[in-house]
Amino acid sequence: MPEGDTIFRTARALGRALTAKTVTSFRSMYPLLTRFNDDTPLAGQTVESVQPRGKWLLIHFSGGGTLATHMLMSGSWHIYRHGERWQQPRANMRIVLENSEYIAVGFRVPVAKMLRANELERALRIPPVAIDVLSEDFNAAEVARRVMAHGGEEIGDVLLHQEVMAGVGNVFKSEICFVTATSPFCKVATLDAEKIASLIAAARRLVKTNVLEDSGDAIVTYGGRKRRTTLALDPGASLWVYGRGGEPCRKCSERIRRRIQGPDARVTFWCQRCQPMPDGTVVDG
Ligand SMILES: [Zn+2]
Repeated sequence: MPEGDTIFRTARALGRALTAKTVTSFRSMYPLLTRFNDDTPLAGQTVESVQPRGKWLLIHFSGGGTLATHMLMSGSWHIYRHGERWQQPRANMRIVLENSEYIAVGFRVPVAKMLRANELERALRIPPVAIDVLSEDFNAAEVARRVMAHGGEEIGDVLLHQEVMAGVGNVFKSEICFVTATSPFCKVATLDAEKIASLIAAARRLVKTNVLEDSGDAIVTYGGRKRRTTLALDPGASLWVYGRGGEPCRKCSERIRRRIQGPDARVTFWCQRCQPMPDGTVVDG
């Protein structure tokens, strides 16, 4: 599932290509979208804005409709100039939005809805801005309250709950726990308010930094080495622990552990020495 910062970058790129421009053509493989377009043609309307909200990408049209897409694991938006060759087969095309300069193509976008303004929040279960790590109106106290409501769960799982804090995916989960010296397997109830505040601050800092630095599709949390050069070959080269199972910890040289965690069986990476359990229990990996 794309991390919040990937959605943010997609929204930014689409925003540059589409905002304040008149739509010249709209096509989709989804009957519900084409029906909406038959009733209220998007061609001739202007794209007012493109907005990331949690893991949703919203394209707002001047006619009052919003195209909401959720990428899940498989989907992506590409932007092409007219005549430019597509990088995915036409069979993968689900949505096409054109203006005089660009063609935006949603490939294998699994979830897409056309919504009126009054339907948005409820239909998408869009997270409130107060808990969206990338929002200006993020409210750390509110998120801390939501985290603490999951006292019986492990912090590594709770960091992924989009209704607790929206925008943190599985890569950031491991990185956030590492940079705050927190065992991902601690029950939330064993963490004090200060630790929870530091986890939330780290989540914001790491996700936002990745957005601001425009690091392409790669996530960068570890800046101790040259950042960009090895990314294509080794996705773990820019990270503290994620994807580095069996390799030495960048702080203490202990072997980085890997373990499947939680009801959704997500992979977690951590350093036993840098991220001990408060009660001294050893979680093996
Ligand atoms: Zn370590």
